[in-house]
Amino acid sequence: MIYDISMKIHPDMPVYKNREEKKPVFETVKTFEHDGVFETNLTFNLHTGTHIDYPLHTIKGGYNSYNHSLEPFLGTAKVIDVTHVKDGITENELIHHDIQENDFIIFKTKNSFSEKFLFDFTYLEKTGARYLVEKKVRGVGIDALGIERDQPNHPTHDTLLSKDIIILEGVRLKEVPEGLYELIMLPLNIDDVEALPVRAILKTL
Ligand SMILES: [Zn+2]
Repeated sequence: MIYDISMKIHPDMPVYKNREEKKPVFETVKTFEHDGVFETNLTFNLHTGTHIDYPLHTIKGGYNSYNHSLEPFLGTAKVIDVTHVKDGITENELIHHDIQENDFIIFKTKNSFSEKFLFDFTYLEKTGARYLVEKKVRGVGIDALGIERDQPNHPTHDTLLSKDIIILEGVRLKEVPEGLYELIMLPLNIDDVEALPVRAILKTL
């Protein structure tokens, strides 16, 4: 079984806090009538839809997509069901789950059940991020367009990114049961940027 956990990119897709400037813009630049072919320009923020964050997103001087390795993006991933969590995912929640060194953890939350942007989306709280660093996971994903909200100075991003732990945001997991999967995601090969759009799938083992 293959689950496509990526968001569709289209003009009315949900974007962070529904901000107009975050919406992708599709523009027809060639038409059959005028040019004999059809072409589209697409303009969007790199944090649109399903994407990964590199350290440079919140850490000045942090590394970015320049010369990045594909290694962390491939391998197994653990989907952890925390759909009962209303607010932040804390250390006290995570101690009840099986999390091991080198795991790629993907949180399935209530967010996956809404087609609209949720202003009260479930996020990874800073104590949860610290716990994942202690566990030495290799990546963390969540079904929200941001891995944290309303935490001054974005400690969740900084805690993970300062330890080179990949952050995957904007996955969709409504149909995906908790469990271990093969994760396949390839970011676009754009050089020298702080985030990259990805197509991500989970394959049952
Ligand atoms: Zn981002």
